[in-house]
Amino acid sequence: MLSVSPLCSRCCFFIMATIELRQVEKKFGDVYAVQPMDLTIQDGEFVVLLGPSGCGKTTTLRMISGLEAVTSGQILIDGRDVTWRHPSDRDIAFVFQFFALYPHMTVRQNMSFTLEAQGAPKADVEKRVQDTARLLQIEHLLRLRPKSLSGGDRQRVALARALVRQPAAFLMDEPLGALDADFRATMRAEIKKLHLAQHATTVYVTHDQIEAMAMSDRIVVMSNAVVQQVGAPAQVYYDPANLFVARFIGSPGMNLIAGRVADGVIELPGQNQFVLPDLWRSALADQLTGDEVVLGFRPEAAQLRTDGAIRTQVYADALHGAYTMLHLALDGEQGLAMAHVRAERAAHYAIGEPIRFDLDPTMVRFFDPKTEMAIRMDRG
Ligand code: ATP
Repeated sequence: MLSVSPLCSRCCFFIMATIELRQVEKKFGDVYAVQPMDLTIQDGEFVVLLGPSGCGKTTTLRMISGLEAVTSGQILIDGRDVTWRHPSDRDIAFVFQFFALYPHMTVRQNMSFTLEAQGAPKADVEKRVQDTARLLQIEHLLRLRPKSLSGGDRQRVALARALVRQPAAFLMDEPLGALDADFRATMRAEIKKLHLAQHATTVYVTHDQIEAMAMSDRIVVMSNAVVQQVGAPAQVYYDPANLFVARFIGSPGMNLIAGRVADGVIELPGQNQFVLPDLWRSALADQLTGDEVVLGFRPEAAQLRTDGAIRTQVYADALHGAYTMLHLALDGEQGLAMAHVRAERAAHYAIGEPIRFDLDPTMVRFFDPKTEMAIRMDRG
């Protein structure tokens, strides 16, 4: 049974919890949904499981919750092995989607139902409902039924229903998935605000990398049942572990241009050359399996200059509101080797117009096309 603990004097809503996955794996028949995975989520951390459809995010979350049995491995919550514990004995709240409220109950009943079913003292239940309602600013809605609430208020109530239990951790599976873009942004900000106020350990599943970047302390990037990288948003954005992460994170993804290393220079399409920064020379020499390399850089690493080293032609442009995203072909009109760079919002570009740019040497990255792994440099 879920333990019902009194509110602490500082009105913390959560009992802090670490979640540890040790070589946790899941197979359906012969097929891996999740390959052996190690992950430690710290007390109060907001961790996002991010990846394309079918990569194993939901299965991972369901294994943490106990709704799915592991094939092998161990799950510990606050050091306690819960691998074979029932979901209700893990002190975790699972939010599938916010709209799943009981229609025949008032907001108050929706919130108090589980606590009452567990036999919590009436006064304790009432205090928790009031405190949670105040936190989410839904006190005025307690007597209403879900059908008379706006979409936003229903979201808050569903969140309140999970919060009122004071779980050790909070698991959310694409909770904003069905919402339109505006409302999604609002709710994203609310969940983040709530997290900052309460520091509840949260594991949040999404395939939306913008959501992951905006909300998380750390992102676990998954693909094909395998964890590709675990890191802070800036880390997975600027230092992707491999080509998958480089492409998947960012909108557009990292620019990736195939080239060949020769005498400290990378020869790129269109007879372009990129002189290797000294710091990278030995790392490439040590780690590349051949002389082929992929040069990676984010759009903001390119500085447009009339005398820039890399010569391109405009392939297409797209106004993104605050700036224009230029799609540049390094190889003339073929458009097979493309770079996306940022340009002034007001500027106008003609298709085929020559454009030159330089790259900020601190913002370039390199990948081995054979292993698909990033070349690592000790930045001291
Ligand atoms: P989505 O974003 O589409 O929900 P996901 O990353 O959450 O995807 P999972 O739902 O964890 O992915 O599924 C991972 C893999 O396991 C998929 O190939 C899926 O088809 C498979 N899978 C999930 N549940 C089952 C099941 N009960 N039986 C068989 N295969 C399953």
